[in-house]
Amino acid sequence: MNASPPATPNLPRWIRLCCPSCRGELRATGKAYACKACERQYPIIFGIPDFRLTADPYISIEDDRAKGVRIALECAAHDLESLLEFYWSITEDVEAARVTQFIETVMAARARGADILDWLASQDSGAGKSGAPRAVEIGCGAGGLLAAASGKVENIVGVDRGFRWLVVARLWLDSESIDMPLICGNANAMPFAQGSFDLAIADGVIEHNEHGQQEIIAEGARVLAPGGRMFVSTPNRLAPIPDPHYGVPGLGLMPKSWRGPAVRRLRGKEYRHISLLGPAGLRRMMSRAGIETVGLQAARFGRETLARFSSLRLLALRIYGFLIGVPVVRTAITWLGPVLWCVGRKPEDESNAERR
Ligand SMILES: [Zn+2]
Repeated sequence: MNASPPATPNLPRWIRLCCPSCRGELRATGKAYACKACERQYPIIFGIPDFRLTADPYISIEDDRAKGVRIALECAAHDLESLLEFYWSITEDVEAARVTQFIETVMAARARGADILDWLASQDSGAGKSGAPRAVEIGCGAGGLLAAASGKVENIVGVDRGFRWLVVARLWLDSESIDMPLICGNANAMPFAQGSFDLAIADGVIEHNEHGQQEIIAEGARVLAPGGRMFVSTPNRLAPIPDPHYGVPGLGLMPKSWRGPAVRRLRGKEYRHISLLGPAGLRRMMSRAGIETVGLQAARFGRETLARFSSLRLLALRIYGFLIGVPVVRTAITWLGPVLWCVGRKPEDESNAERR
């Protein structure tokens, strides 16, 4: 890891920044971006501009930055796994078993990202396009999908509200000599001009925003160019398996008012900041944001993702993988599968799209 990264990030020219608060024009001052209209300042820390208007619910903006800087300073030349071990060693209030699971999830994120990108490529006719598509990953976390996008997607920028996670992403991508722009920002107020992207990806993001899911999808739609595609994945509320955040079986199938008490009783934790959707709810949300769903199905797992599982789970996943390839069964599995994948398109004709 480079201990003294550039003060000003070298953002590529295809990224069209604007003030996330008033959408005004920005100017770079070296250590920050400043809005010419509302004069808000956005600092640049370790080469990552911080455009957040609000903190993540788990940590304050100051503590998040301090944690990110600590990771950057103490983790020179760490590989991803030891970087994550260090991350969790300085993170309180997470049980050891969950830490192992979290680390596994992050380690598997690259293979999962590759599965998503392959699926998106298979769903894309590519008709009527010119030039390299511009993509944004909303909620890029530690950068697994970005790493998978290297060599596949020429223009991609990662956005996350967790500065600490972006530092992990930067160190990881640097360790593999992958140069990709990273921006700290809120998913519901991104620092990009309207119509900036041809593809917006939100993998495992909306479920962490209890009250702002619709807003996030609408913001994704805003930054898409007409004809642009939006991909959203989220755990399926209807899946009859342990929920991915608390490990409580069938949590999403319970009435909403039962989920809090169930998590408290079974896990001794507060059920907060999480909201699960089923396929119909996800499609409805996309439609309200002016995005027409063109593909909705249960997630498909590629060979590399499967290789990470134990033999018993692997057998179950292989059977699942076979079944999901059968069209009639696919519809049924979409309603019960663990994770939903949804891709939609913003109308080409702007008169159909939401104005302003
Ligand atoms: Zn402004």
